[in-house]
Amino acid sequence: MTDDQLLDIDKAHIWHPYSAMSNEGVSDLPVYPVASANGVRLKLTDGRELIDGMSSWWCAIHGYNHPEINRALEQQLKKMSHVMFGGLTHQPAVELALQLVNLTPEALQSVFFSDSGSVSVEVAMKMAIQYWHAKEQPNKQQFLTIRNGYHGDTFGAMSVSDPVTGMHSLFNDTLTEQYFVDAPVCRFGQPCTDDDIAEFEQILSTEKDHIAAVIMEPIVQGAGGMYFYSAEYLHRVRELCEQHHVLLILDEIATGFGRTGKLFACEHADVTPDIMCVGKALTGGYMSLAATLTSKDISDTISQGDPGVFMHGPTFMANPLACTAALVNLKLLLVSPWQSEISRIEEQLETGLEPCRTMATVHDVRILGAIAVVELNNPVDMTVIQPLFVDAGVWIRPFGKLVYLMPPFIIENEDLEKLTTAVVNIVSKLST
Ligand SMILES: *Cc1c(COP(=O)(O)O)cnc(C)c1O
Repeated sequence: MTDDQLLDIDKAHIWHPYSAMSNEGVSDLPVYPVASANGVRLKLTDGRELIDGMSSWWCAIHGYNHPEINRALEQQLKKMSHVMFGGLTHQPAVELALQLVNLTPEALQSVFFSDSGSVSVEVAMKMAIQYWHAKEQPNKQQFLTIRNGYHGDTFGAMSVSDPVTGMHSLFNDTLTEQYFVDAPVCRFGQPCTDDDIAEFEQILSTEKDHIAAVIMEPIVQGAGGMYFYSAEYLHRVRELCEQHHVLLILDEIATGFGRTGKLFACEHADVTPDIMCVGKALTGGYMSLAATLTSKDISDTISQGDPGVFMHGPTFMANPLACTAALVNLKLLLVSPWQSEISRIEEQLETGLEPCRTMATVHDVRILGAIAVVELNNPVDMTVIQPLFVDAGVWIRPFGKLVYLMPPFIIENEDLEKLTTAVVNIVSKLST
């Protein structure tokens, strides 16, 4: 198949994430065919190589085509690629569960494997509801969250994602109505005042009889705006949940496994959630896998309540290939000097993007761990900016007003400099 044939079929038959199928007359967003990927480089079918600034959306922390993950997967393939998890178990799942229990905050002891981040959020929400049902508080069925959040694209996850960017109006009659408060304005590194938390505290205390859990992304609000909020805010949320008998679900799907400079972002606030979701970087970007972890108290309570089981069971639960990829990925992370690698990346992102801070088109520049965000005053025109980045030899995919970088942890300084230089050059050419 030639590139043109491939792109024609793609255009005629395939949806991409949050995209329109091509309609005549409307300028189409470009789509680039990838032939292979290695280390931090994506190779397009036309031979061009792009330095990866996205880690394929938080995932590929050790880069692509990693020999050790490849080898482990080849070996696992010869044993079994999949077996059902109902009534059966296997070493990759058991070892991975143990590893996750060891790495996450101590209270989290029970692991539910699922196939994507969104599903792990559905699972977390159902756990919270079943917990209160077992405690004979069946009215606690709703959730409190902060605006600008993103928790996935399935209905439960959508219901707690930002109502505006998530287009709740479109799904009005189907979506469960949840409680929202404004997102914190206190930035990471700043204190959280009584004012900052007042609305949250007020709704939690008046509505607690209806609220099963608070659900939030810890520290970093990802797809809902790439904003880093005060660790003290999260700390106070934990205390208020305790005080009002509401569970705390932390969605670490984007932040987990080192991205923010801590293994999990909740560690910045020294907070342990009642339920935690992980996904994305869990398999190093190899396969789709997620997990929901909870405490022994919550899993025991659910199991002793009516109907005596937890009501969820995906077909591909704990897929052995995915668990194997995750095990090797976590091993690679833990044997690497990841803290110093993240600090190195953080420092270089700071210096490299410094020129953006004084540009008239730029509203804000923020950096945390291996995440850098250049927030513009106006949304970018993707049909213009995307080809500019590709022509500059980098893979950077902005959304809305945000041009952001979250490179693989293994990126070398020289390649990272090419990423920041491309951002500086291209953002400087945008008109205000
Ligand atoms: C990506 C993401 C999800 C959804 O994960 P999928 O694997 O895309 O279903 C949920 N929460 C957060 C914070 C995410 O970044």
